[in-house]
Amino acid sequence: MSTPTDTQTFMQMEEAHTSGVYPKRPLTVVRGEGAYLWDESGRRYIDCVGGQGSANFGHAHPAIVAAIQQQAATLMTAPEIFYNDKRALLLDRLTSLANMPRAYLCNSGAEAVEAALKFAILATKRHEIIATNRGFHGRTMGALSATWEPKYREPFQPLIPGFKHVQYNDLAAMDAAITDQTAGVIVEIVQGEGGVRPGDADYLRGVQALCHERGAMFIVDEVQTGFGRTGKLFAHQHYDLQPDLMSIAKSMAGGLPMGACLIGSRVPALQAQTHGSTFGGNPLACAAALAALDVMVNDDLPGRAAALGGWLLERFENLPKTKVREVRGLGLIIGIELRSKVSPVLKTLQERGVLALPAGMNVLRLLPPLVIERDALDEAATIIEDVINGLPELSS
Ligand SMILES: *Cc1c(COP(=O)(O)O)cnc(C)c1O
Repeated sequence: MSTPTDTQTFMQMEEAHTSGVYPKRPLTVVRGEGAYLWDESGRRYIDCVGGQGSANFGHAHPAIVAAIQQQAATLMTAPEIFYNDKRALLLDRLTSLANMPRAYLCNSGAEAVEAALKFAILATKRHEIIATNRGFHGRTMGALSATWEPKYREPFQPLIPGFKHVQYNDLAAMDAAITDQTAGVIVEIVQGEGGVRPGDADYLRGVQALCHERGAMFIVDEVQTGFGRTGKLFAHQHYDLQPDLMSIAKSMAGGLPMGACLIGSRVPALQAQTHGSTFGGNPLACAAALAALDVMVNDDLPGRAAALGGWLLERFENLPKTKVREVRGLGLIIGIELRSKVSPVLKTLQERGVLALPAGMNVLRLLPPLVIERDALDEAATIIEDVINGLPELSS
């Protein structure tokens, strides 16, 4: 076995042994601070990937680092058969901020979605789930059954029976789909992976009303939109919605793996043994999440996301219509739908020191840490504009 000393070696070592399920970029990231990342040669990048939504607090946030260090030296694991001080404090804080009385704690977004689906079935004793076209809810078998993208689903068909997909932002389609056998409807407030597509207020309110009318659970997947990303702590708070079940994860514990399913008052008490997780609610993640919530509230990160995102969206409206079809977003989740493929743009941006994401084939997606300084965001935006302006003209 070799000791890696440079990029080529690290990349080769990973290539030799990685599962192969991830599309890789030729970049070895070794350190982060705030909204910056560094590779092993010491080159700095402005991070608009934001850990795919898990770095809303930026990298190495001192308050979160301190909480993790302290808790790691105190108690890392304590299964939920026991009570724990940090878990109690987190449950109290989180449920009050979300205005939902209870929460199930887990370790990832897919797990949070799995919990929401199981709880909807337990709550209604029904088995039908309605999801939306272009919706993304994770890769485990239940979450994948709710996910729309055919290339993620097809190898695993038939998946779980009783899942149906209908057009997003089409209330008539939802009205036609929900039956007296529907356990729940799962939606994102802004479809993230599906191309950065914000839901209409009337649509989302209408879906909630249909769920109430027909005895189905209104499940909101805020794994990507939660924790300040869209300009509110949770995106559904823009529209005065009240989910029955809400999945969260990504930035919940400031970058440490953690997820949760918040449980509303329309869900009857859950019976012991119907669900569970060994690591769920572990004190280390709970301590990190508590510190993260403090930073979120004290530094008004939702306010920063709203201000910076509004400024950026307005600025990107001036991108040439010959190269850009549409600019969409809410707070600091921003999608630039190009008239051309996004992959060459991502490559050029990386060469110029900006890391960004795709959302499908044509959409450039930006998820910068909410702590990003305006100067850094301005520098990233200037480079993005320059790269898009340099694309060949395509007028239709
Ligand atoms: C990322 C994401 C998930 C899956 O989260 P994982 O932690 O990757 O399992 C689920 N739903 C939405 C909306 C997401 O963006």
